[in-house]
Amino acid sequence: MLYVANWKMNMNAPQSTAFVLELNTLPLDNENTRVVICAPFVYLQHIQQLLDNKSSSLGAQNCASYDNGAYTGEISARMLAELNCDYCIIGHSERRTILKESNSDIAQKTLQLIQHEITPILCVGETAQEFSAQQTFQVLEDQLAPIAEALEPIESIFELCIAYEPVWSIGTGSIPSNQYIESVLQWLKNYCAHSMPQVENLYLLYGGSVDPIKAPELKLIPNLSGFLIGGASLDFKKFKNIVVC
Ligand code: PEP
Repeated sequence: MLYVANWKMNMNAPQSTAFVLELNTLPLDNENTRVVICAPFVYLQHIQQLLDNKSSSLGAQNCASYDNGAYTGEISARMLAELNCDYCIIGHSERRTILKESNSDIAQKTLQLIQHEITPILCVGETAQEFSAQQTFQVLEDQLAPIAEALEPIESIFELCIAYEPVWSIGTGSIPSNQYIESVLQWLKNYCAHSMPQVENLYLLYGGSVDPIKAPELKLIPNLSGFLIGGASLDFKKFKNIVVC
C-alpha cells in the first residue's frame, strides 16, 4: 500500500523535522508499504536529507506546466528531479478550484513529471453537486481525456498514481461507501487500460477524510492501492495509525 501525506500549506521547519525523525524509526515492510511525504517546496531539500526510512520517499505538491523559462514563482519538474523527488501531486481540487487550474494545465504537468521520471499523483474527483447529479464518470472522463491525449506520444510510462478524491469528502468527514469507491476504481482501471495502455504500473488511491478509524475498513476495497491523506497526515500518531492498521 502507498500512503501519501499531503501536508498542503501546513507544518513549519521544526514540525516537519520532528515528523520525519519519528517516521525514520517506524519498522515498515519495505516490500509492501511505501510512505510518501508531500511537503511544501521550501522544506523538500531538508526532508530529503533527513528521510532515512527505506519505505519512504519524497513528494512535492505541484509543479509547473513548463520545462524552464520566465515563469516567476514557478517550480519545474526538472528542479524537483534534481532534489530526488520521486512523486508529485498534481490536479488537487484546491488548485483546480482556488487557482483555476484547467485539465489541460494538469495534462502538461503530467507530461513534465513523466519526462523527468517523477511519478505523478494525479487527483481526480467530482463535486457534491456532480455526485448528486450522478455525473461522476463523466467528470472523471473530462479530467482524464486531456491527459491521455498528452501522454499518447510517450511509448512507455513506468508508473502513474491516480487519487480518486471526491471533492465533497475532502476535510468533511464524509466518505463514500466501499462499494461506491470500488466502482470508481474499477472504472479508472478500465479507462486507463483502454486510454493509457502505455502505463506499466497503475496505482489507484482514495483520498478524502481518511483517518485511523476509517482506514481499516477502507483497506478492504479490492482495487485500492493506497491513500492520499490530508488532515490526518499533520499528526504523526494519526498518520502512523493509518499506515500500520
Ligand atoms: C486532500 O486534501 O488531499 C485530503 C485527502 O484531505 P483530507 O484527508 O483532510 O480529507
